[in-house]
Amino acid sequence: MKRKLEDIYYRLLERFSYQSWWPADSKDEMVIGALLTQNTSWNNVEIAITNMKRENLCSLEKIFKADCEVLKKCIKPAGFFNQKASYLKNIAEFFVKNGSFNKLDMFDNATLRKKLLSVKGVGKETADSILLYAFNRAVFVVDAYTRRLVERHNLLKEISYDNIQHLFESNLKKDSSLFGEYHALIVKNAKVFCKTKPLCYNCPILGI
Ligand code: SF4
Repeated sequence: MKRKLEDIYYRLLERFSYQSWWPADSKDEMVIGALLTQNTSWNNVEIAITNMKRENLCSLEKIFKADCEVLKKCIKPAGFFNQKASYLKNIAEFFVKNGSFNKLDMFDNATLRKKLLSVKGVGKETADSILLYAFNRAVFVVDAYTRRLVERHNLLKEISYDNIQHLFESNLKKDSSLFGEYHALIVKNAKVFCKTKPLCYNCPILGI
C-alpha cells in the first residue's frame, strides 16, 4: 500500500506540479477559509473572504468583536450564512480566549484536535484542515474527493473518515508539507478528471 500511495502522489505531482496550498494571506484566513468552505465551492469562499477583507474583518480577533449582521452580509456568497456566521464567531472566540496560535501551538496533535472539535461548527475535516495548514501538523485531511479516490481504486474495505485518514497517515512519511500537497493534488485531480462522472482516459492515476 505504501508504494501504491506514493505512486499516486508522484503521478499527480508530475501531472499537476506543486499546488502550494492553503491559498491564504494569513493563518487566520486559513481558519476562516476552512470553515467557510463547508458545503460550498472555493470560488464562493473567495468572494466571501474578499468581502470580509473590504470590511476589515479577515482576522479572528476582528470576527470575535464584529457585528454579526455585517459578518453575515460579507459571507453570504459562501451559503448557509446564518449558520456559518455563528460558527465563525465560535471559532474566533475559541482562538481569542485560548491565546491564539502562540498558546494553542503548545498542544500536541491529539489534544489540539480534540479542542478544535469541541467548537460548535468544527467537524473532523475542518479541524484537520486547520491542523494541517494553519498549524503545520502532519494530519491528513479527508474530504469527499479523497473518499472518492479511495473508493474508486478500492484502497480500503471499510470506508470511513478515520479509516481513510489512517490509511494515508500510516503509509506515508509523517510530513505536513507532503500531506498538504497530497491533499491539494487529490482535489486538483478530482476537479480535472475524477469528477462525479470520472474521465479516466488520460487521468494520471489510471491503472493503479
Ligand atoms: S478519473 Fe478514473 S483513473 Fe482517475 S482517479 Fe478517478 S477513477 Fe481513478
